[in-house]
Amino acid sequence: MKVDYFSLPLSEPLQTAKGPIEDREGYLVTVEEPDIGLGEATPLPGWTESLAACKEALESGDPLDELPPAARHGVSLAALDAQAKSEGEPLYRFLGGQSAVESVPVNATVGDADPETTAKQVTAAVDAGFPAVKLKVGARSIEEDIERVAAVRDAAPDAELRLDANGAWTRAEAQEAFDALTSYGIAYVEQPLPADDLDGHAALRETVPVALDEGLYEHGFDAVLDANAADVWILKPMAMGGPDVAIEAAGLARGAGIAPVVTTTIDGCVARAAAVHVAAAIPDVRACGLATGSLLSVDFGPDPVPVSNGRIAVPQKEGNIPTTSSADYA
Ligand SMILES: [Mg+2]
Repeated sequence: MKVDYFSLPLSEPLQTAKGPIEDREGYLVTVEEPDIGLGEATPLPGWTESLAACKEALESGDPLDELPPAARHGVSLAALDAQAKSEGEPLYRFLGGQSAVESVPVNATVGDADPETTAKQVTAAVDAGFPAVKLKVGARSIEEDIERVAAVRDAAPDAELRLDANGAWTRAEAQEAFDALTSYGIAYVEQPLPADDLDGHAALRETVPVALDEGLYEHGFDAVLDANAADVWILKPMAMGGPDVAIEAAGLARGAGIAPVVTTTIDGCVARAAAVHVAAAIPDVRACGLATGSLLSVDFGPDPVPVSNGRIAVPQKEGNIPTTSSADYA
């Protein structure tokens, strides 16, 4: 197994709870058995191990299931890519996708801005063909966020609208927001409360559907299922430990009547393409958060999974993407 460091600068710094991030650093993992396979480990502080811990894990020789999430993702993807190539199947079929899938729907993401700007950005996304738009909320007062949602609904009455609060609200604020949101036809609100509050999320679901993102990683699948805390699970293969784990989670979710939505953690195109394969292996998947390539100013190469008309074409050659080794990306 070969491990190569990379750094991909972002178009704009990413604001996270752990401070701004200016580039996405990680490791490309190459294996040569039973075929050439390429994986990507791109740790994101707050979601996975640190860069240093990722490197240490990749060099440890530890068994797959003892690796932290980003390292496990890199090794798992390299192995799956190699196996799928050796079987002559595109990765999504190798992951269990039962039928040919040409493309998967993706959502646009609109950040925090005043109501008028927010409405314009949502309209632009709808005009560009995106079947769903995710609106970041929680940076302003509840009243101001509701004004933004109202402006968006005026401008785009039929758009599938999702909100993501990234855990910003207290229970009282969330209830106030949810009560006001009932009249705007919101598909779901992602992580309205802090990650630790499963019971709070379970209670909110009675008003508007709830998606868990951070909470899913804090508690694990079983605890979230037991608490009946979500209508939607946000599956991030990089934070879960690999495409195989994300597929397993999608099966668990579907079995419990929960909708899986696959998203990236703003990864390079090797992991992003793998996330597209994960989404393609889930029958009739809802619009996924995979339109994140434009957030990087430099990628490993030309985008193998570009967005067109709100969808991403699923690579159909054997394996993940037609790259034979990290040398192609040197
Ligand atoms: Mg989220």
